[in-house]
Amino acid sequence: MANPSLNDITPFNYPGSKDNQPLLISGPCSVESEAQYVETALRLAKTGKVHWLRGGIWKPRTRPDAFEGVGEKGLPWMIKAREASGLPVMTEVANAKQVELCLNHGIDALWIGARTTVNPFTVQEIADAVRGVDIPVFIKNPVNPDLALWLGALERIQRAGITQIAAIHRGFSHVGDSIYRNKPMWEIPIALRTAYPNISLICDPSHICGRRDLLQNVAQKAMDLGFNGWMIESHINPDAALSDAAQQITPEALDALIEAIEVRQMRSDDMTFAHQLQSLRSRIDKVDEEIIHLLGKRMHITEELGQFKKEESVTIFQIDRWKEILESRTLLAEQVGLSKEFITKYLEQLHKESIRTQTRVMNNTQSKAK
Ligand code: PEP
Ligand code: MN
Repeated sequence: MANPSLNDITPFNYPGSKDNQPLLISGPCSVESEAQYVETALRLAKTGKVHWLRGGIWKPRTRPDAFEGVGEKGLPWMIKAREASGLPVMTEVANAKQVELCLNHGIDALWIGARTTVNPFTVQEIADAVRGVDIPVFIKNPVNPDLALWLGALERIQRAGITQIAAIHRGFSHVGDSIYRNKPMWEIPIALRTAYPNISLICDPSHICGRRDLLQNVAQKAMDLGFNGWMIESHINPDAALSDAAQQITPEALDALIEAIEVRQMRSDDMTFAHQLQSLRSRIDKVDEEIIHLLGKRMHITEELGQFKKEESVTIFQIDRWKEILESRTLLAEQVGLSKEFITKYLEQLHKESIRTQTRVMNNTQSKAK
């Protein structure tokens, strides 16, 4: 039989999924003690908003002296919390042994962490360990911004026969300053959604933000972009948490955060809305057509320019002209309300294409291939 495709994945099933309620997974970064985990579970259940409980049993910490989780003895505490709260429980697995322990203890779902998704050998090991058991598996994006690795992990788990699969966006590591612990790089989950519209996409604002004050905005943005839910860390005493203290919030703060979310639907049946949307979209269509015609016109002038420079044996790249274009266009763009970042990216693409076109003219080749 042919391998299944990510196109065949059906949206994640959970209580509330039928009426399009966003999926909410919450719980502490780490399971620390039975009392801590059970109390968190009860307080989260009380909000009436949480569908699944999370809790890290084995913690992948960057440095060896950090808290690395309570290990196997915490699994029965999770089961107790499930019995007390009525909510299913999930934990992170990073090897076959951990999968086996979770299955033996009756954990309801598993997730693969960002540091594991980067390694196809480990993902395959986990896939082989879950083969034949249709347990839901959530797959976090790899730490590095590589969509193919994320897709590869989803495919490996799907090929092991798992049908309940969801992708978790937890941001990406980066160089340089950022307000985020892991940069969201929204274009990557958007590319995943574009390629495979049926895959459930869950946002993990906690690991993106690394701090409490940014959570609300990131959670709202995920909703605005059509994500299917969130995984948000919650602790009964966040400041005293043994891992990821700065990003955890109390169950009551989580309740308030979700309450404040502006819930958006993918579409609306309102006729007036549909009509106005259509009218705005046709205006955008017209503007796009004009832009494309103008770009074509600009590129034809570039071709003439290439010919002209060729005849005079002048270089294609002219640093002064490029600087002048960047400055004057950025200024103009700012005047009409476009961001510097956007216009710079646009100009860089345009300049690259202009150089490519002139190079083609100079080399006198007919091919338009890149
Ligand atoms: C976690 O969920 O606590 C965790 C370790 O996440 P990530 O794999 O996203 O770093
Ligand atoms: Mn964490």
